[in-house]
Amino acid sequence: MATFRALRLHKTDSPAPDVKIEQLTTGDLSTGNVLISNEFSSLNYKDALAVTGKGKIIRDFPMVPGIDAAGVVLESDDPNYHPGEHVILTGHGVGETHTGGMSEQVRVPGSYLVRTPQALDSRKAMQFGTGGLTGMLCVLALLDSDLKPSDGPIAVSGAGGGVGGIATTVLSTLGYEVHAITGRESEHDRLKELGASEILERADFTRDPKPLESTRFAGAIDTVGGQVLATLIPQIIYNGVIAATGNAGGFQFSTTVFPFILRNIRLQGVDSVHAPSETRERAWQLLSENVTTDQLDASTRTIDLENVVGTAEQLINNQVSGRVLIDVQA
Ligand code: NDP
Repeated sequence: MATFRALRLHKTDSPAPDVKIEQLTTGDLSTGNVLISNEFSSLNYKDALAVTGKGKIIRDFPMVPGIDAAGVVLESDDPNYHPGEHVILTGHGVGETHTGGMSEQVRVPGSYLVRTPQALDSRKAMQFGTGGLTGMLCVLALLDSDLKPSDGPIAVSGAGGGVGGIATTVLSTLGYEVHAITGRESEHDRLKELGASEILERADFTRDPKPLESTRFAGAIDTVGGQVLATLIPQIIYNGVIAATGNAGGFQFSTTVFPFILRNIRLQGVDSVHAPSETRERAWQLLSENVTTDQLDASTRTIDLENVVGTAEQLINNQVSGRVLIDVQA
């Protein structure tokens, strides 16, 4: 049987898994009716947690991690997908409970896939990756809540990260004034290049907020959670919207009901894993139409499977800026 290369995590007695690059056959892959020759994956926060064992992401070992992938259909029993077509894979437990993207071949049910938009190829698709898709889904949550550029500035927290960077880029392209919140001074210039009009210090959002404060944002995209989210909420205008997607800054948070009752603040959770396929297709299309990957080139770096562990450690320690692509065929 033909073999292909993949990175696999094996269980150990400590939280950190044993990471091996191995030759696998399709018999080692989870089931599905579409087999893909994978071209690129990317390294996301969740992948870094899985690879380092710093988060309990993987429950069934051995597991091929990688929550996203993009490549070409090799074999398909799904009438919607045919050999030779370019596809993108995100969510649905891929790289968590279903073997994932850090492999030259990936097999999934066709319902997990989205056709790669015309303007993108596999590399460009993974420059956005799950982070980009999630950033776009957050922007869609604001657009679908009727928040307009004229309503006022939008705060983006964790702006130096993958999701926050894409959200900053898309919002500014669509004409919104973006106030990017970051804890890294080294990110200031890059965030300005991505379109942020103001850079705010994360330290100003890690204090104990008052129940209601002076309002200064029409909405927010929060990728950080915890104290930052709790501090943002009382600063949002009447009828404002927050799309919250992450918890890099902690999953506990405390606030009062006042902003929700007295200012009708709407807090919307965004989870790319569970987004319906029509919404994901719409988000990919909008991404491909509104952001050129040229805007991301300077902050994209490409690694191969051998460099995944080291880069994952850096990402967990907040030492990685922008997007990390994995060239799985390298
Ligand atoms: P990154 O690691 O690329 O970025 C996270 C950013 O959060 C960092 O760059 C940093 O921003 C900020 N940050 C990190 N640690 C802390 C901290 N202790 N306190 C406050 N801020 C912190 O991750 P992603 O952008 O890929 O993901 C961001 C979040 O979104 C994660 O929690 C991830 O799990 C979640 N996510 C959710 C998805 C979903 O579908 N629900 C999909 C993808 C991601 P800066 O350097 O600017 O300070």
